Amino acid sequence: MSSTSYAAVPVPQLKPSAESPTVPVRVPGARYFARSVPFPVLKPKVSVKTRRKPVIVIDPGHGGRDPGAVGAKGTHEKIITTTAAKELAAILRKSGRYTVIMTRTDDSYVDHDDRLRIARSGQADLFISIHADSTGSKSTRGASVYTLADRAKGRSKRIVNNQNWILDVDLTEQTDPVGDILVDLAQRKTESQSDAFAEILLDELEGKTKLVGNSHRRAGYYVLLAPDVPAVLLELGFLSNAQDEKLLKTKRHRNKLTSSVERAIDRYMDTP
Ligand SMILES: [Zn+2]
Repeated sequence: MSSTSYAAVPVPQLKPSAESPTVPVRVPGARYFARSVPFPVLKPKVSVKTRRKPVIVIDPGHGGRDPGAVGAKGTHEKIITTTAAKELAAILRKSGRYTVIMTRTDDSYVDHDDRLRIARSGQADLFISIHADSTGSKSTRGASVYTLADRAKGRSKRIVNNQNWILDVDLTEQTDPVGDILVDLAQRKTESQSDAFAEILLDELEGKTKLVGNSHRRAGYYVLLAPDVPAVLLELGFLSNAQDEKLLKTKRHRNKLTSSVERAIDRYMDTP
């Protein structure tokens, strides 16, 4: 090995030097330095193992030609759901913990199939559909959380078959009875995750807003049908109740609700 060798200039010159930077400079007892020798490219020490952030899909109910429920004082549900969903998306994004996907951000009509497709293609860890309820009884108030009803599970299986969805459990080349068992397995896991999140969410909402009696409800809502995406439908309150309608129009009240959802997501995701 030669006692003199070429090496890269390690530090860029900030001030113009008396010596031409392009001409190799002989420094007694040292190596030759030259600008013409390229800098070594050092790869920054970053961990190759990057953990994927949990994906939260927020689905503002209704939209476009579908206004949803119409409030006691004329408020359209779609306006409340869009506003609350955007506010929830903003606080989740601000936390930096999650990848947030919204099924719509403007007043457009999104088909139920497309809402599910967005959740599945985004590989959602959690799907939250935001709604505001309505009923004939004007005194009924409060929030509630829906998860998929048992009776809707057959419908879920039909969607899997009709749309050729590939689940975590691979259904390819399975005969129907076996395929059904595999969908059952996926559904069971998803159901327990959805139930767990629903319970945490109600726990967080308690005290922050009024809850309807029997606040964990089950229904066959289409957006809850993906057998491999834990999903809940949150009814923020009753638009048919003038007081709830008034509250849902205030940012302060919506903020109580969306902050509860954020805390619930944090708790759910922190549960091993
Ligand atoms: Zn609705």
